[in-house]
This record gives sequence, C-alpha cells and structure tokens, in this order.
Amino acid sequence: GVAKTLASCIFCKIIKGEIPSFKLLETETTFAFLDIGPLAKGHALVIPKYHAEKLHELPDESLVDLLPIAKKIAIAVGSENYNILQNNGKLAHQEVGHVHVHVIPKPSNEEGLG
Ligand code: 5GP
Ligand code: ZN
Repeated sequence: GVAKTLASCIFCKIIKGEIPSFKLLETETTFAFLDIGPLAKGHALVIPKYHAEKLHELPDESLVDLLPIAKKIAIAVGSENYNILQNNGKLAHQEVGHVHVHVIPKPSNEEGLG
C-alpha cells in the first residue's frame, strides 16, 4: 500500500492531522506542507505517506509524486532560485526520521527571510 504509518513519527502525525501543519498539496501517495522552521519564506517539505526513514527504504510507488510536487511548489513560490534538499541519516543532517524533500527558496535579499 501507499500509506504505512509509524504511530510515534511526527510527520506521520502531520499526515493524519494529529499535529497541525500548513498543508500545501496532497495526493494519494504524497503530502506537502510548510516547514515550521523556515530557512526562507515558503520553505516547504514534501513527504511520502508511506513511512520510511531513508530514501532507499521507500517503495518506488511512493516516489512518483515527490519531485513533481516539489516542482509545483517551486513554480508557486515564483522564485527562479531555490534548493531541493533531501537528507538521509544523522551524519547527513537528517533530524526527522521520515523521508522528506525540502524546497527552499533563495530570495535575492533579506526580505525573504522568515
Ligand atoms: P532534516 O534536518 O531532517 O532534513 O529537516 C527536518 C525539517 O523538519 C526541519 O527543517 C524542521 O524545521 C522541520 N520540522 C520538524 N518538526 C516539524 C513539525 O512539527 N512541523 C513542521 N511543519 N516542520 C517540522
Ligand atoms: Zn513517519
């Protein structure tokens, strides 16, 4: 199935609505919302509904919407400058143990911060 849940996972709780989030988009396999600690205005996270800690643990069917949704968000934000980032493992700066793709706009001046 496309939805596998870990009860103790904060991102699984966000998908289920047990923790509030600013939701941007949702498909059968994928959920997107604003990052609670944005590095820039519009910083978003795109996550599979299937709980896995790292990208290589995800079934292929859970990958299909991740980049298309990241692309939609990048277009909606309207910045020509942005980073797509996806960390796996503590040494690689992963803090939340549920696969997530960051969409981080790079504003051309400090007004974009926050
Ligand atoms: P990582 O370092 O694991 O790649 O990034 C985890 C991201 O999740 C961080 O940017 C952090 O701000 C975000 N985050 C952590 N907890 C929550 C939460 O409860 N809600 C939301 N919206 N974002 C969160
Ligand atoms: Zn999870």
